[in-house]
Amino acid sequence: MGPQGSGKGTQAARLAEKYGVPAISTGDIFRANIKGGTELGRLAQEYSAKGELVPDEVTNAMVRDRLAQDDARGGFLLDGYPRNAAQVDELDAILADLDVRLDAVVELTADRAELLERLRRRAEIEGREDDTEDVIARRLDIYDEQTAPLTEAYAERGLLARVDGIGEIDEVTRRILDAVTAVTA
Ligand code: AMP
Repeated sequence: MGPQGSGKGTQAARLAEKYGVPAISTGDIFRANIKGGTELGRLAQEYSAKGELVPDEVTNAMVRDRLAQDDARGGFLLDGYPRNAAQVDELDAILADLDVRLDAVVELTADRAELLERLRRRAEIEGREDDTEDVIARRLDIYDEQTAPLTEAYAERGLLARVDGIGEIDEVTRRILDAVTAVTA
């Protein structure tokens, strides 16, 4: 977990490689569907272009399908899910059905000024439709209101690895690996 611009996607890919599991990014799946012009993509586009969350029933069903695929049997890393309380409940239900448990939840933290700066830079480089000023602000608000509070529940379960996301990419990766090792020890 981590706000947009915290380096979540970059670190997710690195951790997945390190642990030899697929990185499953709901944002990437939505973007691939938008690009491919699928029905799911059309729906996701309506919401993501405004910085809003795609409705839970759509997102939850997509994650359920994805986690049931063969390559996720040996473990997986979720990037960008769960993002609200209903998704936390659904993830618990999906994992119970698959008879697997969460090992750790990583939270990457960064202050808003740093995030805004990074997102502006990313907008220039990648030209993502949802990296405009208004949409960035909306996405950060949703993160603060709906997603950030979820980490408390995971902390109570003893699963939370909270890591400062500001720093060199390698250094942040090291911090995450140390924090995950501590949580899973
Ligand atoms: P991301 O790349 O993770 O920032 O996701 C890009 C966009 O995809 C978000 O702004 C949402 O519109 C949508 N999205 C990604 N993950 C979720 C999720 N777990 N629930 C709802 N919408 C999501």
